[in-house]
Formats: sequence, structure tokens, C-alpha cells
Amino acid sequence: MVEVIVKELPERPRPGEEVQLPNGEFVRVRHVGIPWLLPPRKVCNDPECPWHGHLSVRGQVFTVTVESIRGRSATVVHEWLHYNPKYKRYERRRKKIHVRAPPCIDIKPGDVVYIGETKPLAKSIRYVIIGRNEDVTEAKPKILRVEQ
Ligand SMILES: [Zn+2]
Repeated sequence: MVEVIVKELPERPRPGEEVQLPNGEFVRVRHVGIPWLLPPRKVCNDPECPWHGHLSVRGQVFTVTVESIRGRSATVVHEWLHYNPKYKRYERRRKKIHVRAPPCIDIKPGDVVYIGETKPLAKSIRYVIIGRNEDVTEAKPKILRVEQ
């Protein structure tokens, strides 16, 4: 297995920028396809990273809370409201999801992160962490209003 190298940059890179790692390798910061999400401050050489590898994010994006981290994967809790038409009320639903945690995104239990759907990476892993709650642009509320 290739050793994973993570380099912290003084400033947040822009998507499309090329960064040199300490071992001389060049890594290009990709666009993940979500306009309001900013790339992480750190750069890694993990091939299964949505920003610096070749893992494509497509499908659903959720806001979740990190429950536990175990190596390269993590367990997150997704909570949402489901409308019950018979009682005309919302009920709370929650589900635990196993996700891939890229080494360039720092997470700890209790953090709010964004996860995106990706190809199946393991038997129960088909989502990847794509950013933290604060890694968003100021345009995010404006973009969400247009979508409604
Ligand atoms: Zn990365």
C-alpha cells in the first residue's frame, strides 16, 4: 500500500490548482461538482479522495454528524424529518451511514460534515466526506434559494 502524504497549505487552494507534495509528487485539486463547497486546506495523495484522487461524487449530498472514526472510515448519523400525511405531522428519522474519511479533511466525533454519494468502496461504504460545515462559500444560501 502506498504511504499517504498530507500537506497543510498556508491558504486554501482553488479548484484546478496544482500543489507539490514533500516527495515531489504533483496533486491537482479537483472540482467535486458542488459550487458552494470549498476545498480543504490540506492536500493528500490518496487515490480515493474526492478532492485529490479520482473518486467522483454524484447523487445525494447530506449534512450529517460524525459519531466515530476508525482509520479511513467513519460512522455518521443522518437525521431528517419525514412528513406523515395521516397525522399531518413530521416524524424524526435517523440513520447511521458508514462513510469514507479522506486524510485531508480533519474530523472528530460531533463535527457536522457534508457527505456525498460515490461508487461502492466497500460492502457498506458508498458515501464519502466532502467537507466540513464551515467549508462553504457565502453564496450558498443564495444558490439554495434559486433551487427551491
Ligand atoms: Zn485529499
